[in-house]
Amino acid sequence: MTPSPARRRRTGTNGAAPTHNLPRRGAVRRAQTITTYGVGSLIAVDHESFIVSGLDEAERSWSRDESPRIHERRLARVLGVDYFRLPPASDDTSKDGLRVRRFPLMHSCPECNDLQRHRDFNPPAGRSVCGTCEVDLVPSRFVVACEAGHIGEFPYWQWVHRSADRDATTAGRCGGKLKMRTTGHTSSLRSILVSCTCGTAPEVSMEGSFRRRALKDLGLTCRGTRPWLGASAVAQECGLPLRTLQRGSSAVWQPVLKSALSIPPWSDGRTDPLAEHWDALREYDEREHVAIYLRGVFKGECPVPLDEVMALLDAEREEDPDGESSPVPDHRYRALRNKEYERLRAGNEESEHSRDEQFVCERPLGDQSVLAPLGVAGPMLVKKLREVRALKAFTRLVNAESTTDSTEVPLSERPLRWLPAMEVRGEGVFLRLDEDRLNAWEKSVAVTARVERMRTAHQRVLEQRADDPSRVVPSPATPRMVLLHTLAHALINEWSLDAGYPAAALRERLYAADEMAGTLIYTATSGSAGSLGGLVAQGEPETLARAVRSAVRRAEWCSSDPLCMESEASGAGGINLAACHACVMLPETSCEHNNILLDRALLVGTPDDPRLGYFEDVVQGQ
Ligand SMILES: [Zn+2]
Ligand SMILES: [Zn+2]
Ligand SMILES: [Zn+2]
Ligand SMILES: [Zn+2]
Ligand SMILES: [Zn+2]
Repeated sequence: MTPSPARRRRTGTNGAAPTHNLPRRGAVRRAQTITTYGVGSLIAVDHESFIVSGLDEAERSWSRDESPRIHERRLARVLGVDYFRLPPASDDTSKDGLRVRRFPLMHSCPECNDLQRHRDFNPPAGRSVCGTCEVDLVPSRFVVACEAGHIGEFPYWQWVHRSADRDATTAGRCGGKLKMRTTGHTSSLRSILVSCTCGTAPEVSMEGSFRRRALKDLGLTCRGTRPWLGASAVAQECGLPLRTLQRGSSAVWQPVLKSALSIPPWSDGRTDPLAEHWDALREYDEREHVAIYLRGVFKGECPVPLDEVMALLDAEREEDPDGESSPVPDHRYRALRNKEYERLRAGNEESEHSRDEQFVCERPLGDQSVLAPLGVAGPMLVKKLREVRALKAFTRLVNAESTTDSTEVPLSERPLRWLPAMEVRGEGVFLRLDEDRLNAWEKSVAVTARVERMRTAHQRVLEQRADDPSRVVPSPATPRMVLLHTLAHALINEWSLDAGYPAAALRERLYAADEMAGTLIYTATSGSAGSLGGLVAQGEPETLARAVRSAVRRAEWCSSDPLCMESEASGAGGINLAACHACVMLPETSCEHNNILLDRALLVGTPDDPRLGYFEDVVQGQ
């Protein structure tokens, strides 16, 4: 990780980023640059604090070999880009890395207690110490943010002077100097005291600064600052309410991640050279025109035969949502999953596999009828898969899962043709639930009533978190979704306890909608292919039937019962029913849904109502 240079750097003559010697601030694993330290997030390195720069800068500074392009056409299309790039790893071997800028700028000196901008301390070059006292400066623990994703300095001057004077951002009008000191040994807000040497206002503590209306009461609203874009980015009009946050709080930054499995006909890499041309190609209906375009671009050496290009264009149009010219993005993600579901369900013939095919999905050889009594259907062995996970945007204050596009903050100031993404490769087992059995089960009054309690609780939490309830998305909880979700967790537990896969190395991918009822459980490693072999063997019908039975029986019991089984969806964040860390919750890397919307009762029933359980027969029959 390197801080942005103040001046623009030279670019190498061949377009490659020049080597340079900006100070390295720390190491960040590649995957973290998507999930934890993406654009706009805050990062603490030793006693300093930075904000990760926008992609406008990355486009100039990320070198092609350290940050190569990757392709996943279906995902790119939904996200409105041509391709993706792996972020550079910021380890000792990398020449460049993530660019960061100092943020917040307000710092205090524990020795002289001055509270001012970093540069006003006159620190010696490359060091973050008070120029007078030579002790380490402390970055402000507090920042302010709004729901539109702006972030700024905490308005200390206004806080002390109880003033809404917007031009006095750091100090100033009164002629005084701000001071910050802490009393006692606690880190409570009450013990942090801010004052001004002008003497016109009494010393105040930080207590109350986190109240929802604290800054509004002072007459302060968001000024639209976007420090991750650098000084050249003009502040946007905003005026939304400001909230005070701790620098390290998860509300400061949440990634909006979107992912797709690579499936045929896009998954053998042959179409990658065409990535930047699809939008142009889609303008043509006539084969002749497509041919002319390709000749122009590839000078007669198009890597993909014309017939195939035409077939791919048809495949694309088929995935276009019908009738709507600008469909709700949410629908488009659902269409993405739908296609995956179809592919996972159908599999692909071995004859279709080229050496470079990244999706290999086959029906198991064993007799599937052993699964019928369980209500499980159509297992598939996914011998090879590739998932691309892209960072689309980020949010502040709002939960990324519950946002609509309007609260998402783009990663660059100008729209770019790419987004940062990770690719993982692995293998997996796909299974579905028997549709007739599922339809009958999910219509039961007891089941719908139970899941409705969970859905309302979840909806309430989503609305409470948002300042504007009209922008809240509906909770995805349905009987089918919660059942599939809990089953996926129970199976991951089973395979990790019985077959020795570390639970954190397995992941779920749910396909739950009116026309879908399946789950994929897969290994996902971002290194070279397949470090945990053999998961597909778990998908053979006999083995799978045994695992489902065992998983269900395991789910009957939790060391926190009867509390766990009797728990109600209530309390802060408690959006699960019978589920806790002692039973079906998983490491966060395994779960698509933040470990919420889980309920063991939908698998096994409750003591009072065994029929709630989809796998009631397994429980009764033991
Ligand atoms: Zn000092
Ligand atoms: Zn003053
Ligand atoms: Zn704002
Ligand atoms: Zn439990
Ligand atoms: Zn989950």
